[in-house]
Amino acid sequence: MKINNPLIAALIITMATGLVVAYTHVFPEMAVPIIITYISTIIFLSIILAISAWIYRKSKSSVDAGDIAGISENLNTEMIIWTDDFSAVYMNKHMRELLGIESMNFDHKAEIMRAFGIDSLEKENIQKIIGNTSHEARFTNAENSVTTIAWSTSLIKKKKNISLYLSTGFNLTEIKKMRLNLANTNDIFNYSMSLAEIGIIMSSDMVNYIASSETVRMLGLKGNNINIKTFRSLIHANDRLQFDSAIKSAGTETGNEVKSVELRIRSADGFYHWYSYRYKPINSAGNKLPMFSSALIDNTKEHEKDYIIERLAYTDDVTEIANRNKLMDIGQETYEQCSLLNYSYWIIVIDIDRFHIINDSYGYQNGNQILKSFAGILYKFVAPGGLAARISGDNFAIVLRDYGDDDLPLRTAKSIQEEFAKLAKGDFSSISLSCSAGYSKMPEDGNSFLEVFEHAEFALKSGGNENNTICGYEARMHDSIIGRTELEKELSTAIDNNELQLFYQPKINLSTGKIMGVEALIRWIKPDGTVVRPDAFVPVAESSHLIGRISEFVLNEGCRQNKLWQKMGYPEIVMSINFTSTDFYQKDLKDKVFEALVKTGLDSKWLEVELTETLALSDIDYAVSQMKKLRELGVKLAMDDFGTGYSSLSYLQILPITLLKLDRSFIIDIEHDNIAYEIVSSVIRIAKSKKIETIAEGIENLNQEDILRKAGCDFGQGYLYGKPMPAEKIQEFFEENMKQTQNK
Ligand code: C2E
Ligand code: MG
Ligand code: MG
Repeated sequence: MKINNPLIAALIITMATGLVVAYTHVFPEMAVPIIITYISTIIFLSIILAISAWIYRKSKSSVDAGDIAGISENLNTEMIIWTDDFSAVYMNKHMRELLGIESMNFDHKAEIMRAFGIDSLEKENIQKIIGNTSHEARFTNAENSVTTIAWSTSLIKKKKNISLYLSTGFNLTEIKKMRLNLANTNDIFNYSMSLAEIGIIMSSDMVNYIASSETVRMLGLKGNNINIKTFRSLIHANDRLQFDSAIKSAGTETGNEVKSVELRIRSADGFYHWYSYRYKPINSAGNKLPMFSSALIDNTKEHEKDYIIERLAYTDDVTEIANRNKLMDIGQETYEQCSLLNYSYWIIVIDIDRFHIINDSYGYQNGNQILKSFAGILYKFVAPGGLAARISGDNFAIVLRDYGDDDLPLRTAKSIQEEFAKLAKGDFSSISLSCSAGYSKMPEDGNSFLEVFEHAEFALKSGGNENNTICGYEARMHDSIIGRTELEKELSTAIDNNELQLFYQPKINLSTGKIMGVEALIRWIKPDGTVVRPDAFVPVAESSHLIGRISEFVLNEGCRQNKLWQKMGYPEIVMSINFTSTDFYQKDLKDKVFEALVKTGLDSKWLEVELTETLALSDIDYAVSQMKKLRELGVKLAMDDFGTGYSSLSYLQILPITLLKLDRSFIIDIEHDNIAYEIVSSVIRIAKSKKIETIAEGIENLNQEDILRKAGCDFGQGYLYGKPMPAEKIQEFFEENMKQTQNK
């Protein structure tokens, strides 16, 4: 088509200008190359137009190469008019200056080869020039730098075998440079992104992503193009929902705010890294590009720091499972969800039976090993959504989702007990490992997680001191608490009415069989004759301050009775009385004991005070000072129920005790459990080395007595010799004992 109508040309130029304006508006960052291309095209078109018009006009007259040369001589573009036999070659001034030639040589071949960037005038090279719409040539210009020209060649005339061509050049040198610069800009961009370690992802259709080179590096992608499904598959399963909602909100929301979600994405090293995935809604005011763009910033290190902080705050050091804080936090969250979503969960609180024994006999390292293994067992029973935690010492808890199976907590606790017992092998083969559990259900069993948890503990305690118990919480367990106030009133009246009475249980010297003392054990004899044991009312008395009155009675009555027996001519024996912590920590303790001794006339060496180790260790410094005061009076001190508290043998160094009472639980096991025997005999040995006498509580048969005697235990107490009995009865015992042992 010959464009010879200025109107059409004007129209095309106007349309093109319109297009350029529109494009530069939509892609502002592409404005420079678009405008340059546009201007160059316009110039090129204008020349073509001018020449075409001229040729058109000339074709109507007679066209001559010389005419063309004349016109093109001063045009500010590169032009060559040439014949294909190279007999005539004309280069306009602009072209000559570029090549650095002042006038055309007779032999034009060298110039034309240079101008067209070819090394010979073979046919195929010529064909490249005339056959293509554009032929790109590179040559060294007069200023010794490289020039690139795109030649466009058209046939002007053919006469016989010779053709006349017009080649118009378009200098690409600047554009090439610009492209190079653009390439550099891209490099700089990529370089800065990789320095900042920011990956960029863009998409115009929300299906296919273009990933920046930093993204490719971070995620180890194969190329810059990635499908959204593939990208999603790299995201950690737990974070995909977050990603989906980010994508959804990017497509639908407006607003100018950069949003961010934290995602774990599988990265080049094959591991999941934490990324901050930042994006702007597509329709946001600031988003001029109709595309979705997002940035990825690897913040794994920050997450690791948070994780370490969280670990410190929420993980138990020894077992590496959750600690009490975590249990309380997660527990309360779960409790709230339960109420909201109609779920329920079980909470099982578990206590390792006699754990202190393991610690004392095997050392802390082994004790910790048992705790770790126990935590491992608990973990096996925790399904997703549940939790296992160490609350304190040997106290653990697990939280289990309830699916309507009411036997689940009982079954689980039993399985835990079975698994735990199996750990008694290898180094621990001579030990019997057991644990006790209490459980409750939330939200049913309390108004908060804490309450439900306390109810599980309450259930655990209701199993008493027995081993291997499992107890479910029941609301009626509280009846005993409600009954307390009634009991308090009753007890108070009982004290007024002298319904309290001391029973005495004999203590026997294991080598002579002679009675060496009695333990005063309180009984409440109701008017109807029922005998109430101390476990049923001493704790109530303690919490209601009635204990002071009870202890005063026991102290005075014990001293009085002992003195009376001495006066009656019975052998001198030690009277042991029990003190609770309320009694023991009284400031005037020494005065009260002294008063009782003076009032009754009993020598202090015939009085012994029994303290439990838990009591003594609750405030060890104060306990030691109180004990010393009693020792100053000459009163003996016994450590009661030794082995049931949290103490270790090392406390024997600090506490000024004269007698160690081995707890009944060891004596029960001593016949069959090697470890119980080992503990008892080593405790006896150690006590002896510290000049502390030992007594075994709860001896019920001769075999136990025999084992203990052989182990070096000094004294024994238990049903084998006699149950706690009233004063008159124990007098009969004295007489009988005197008869039996008179020759010893
Ligand atoms: P405890 O001081 O360890 O007393 C020993 C308990 O073991 C007594 O129970 C005794 O009857 C029981 N016992 C002794 N030998 C055997 C045996 O061979 N087999 C069995 N199964 N049990 C045996 P009791 O009298 O019921 O006293 C329980 C606890 O109540 C005492 O434990 C003591 O802590 C406390 N208690 C007793 N009297 C008093 C008191 O006057 N004041 C205070 N504060 N507490 C007292
Ligand atoms: Mg006692
Ligand atoms: Mg005891």
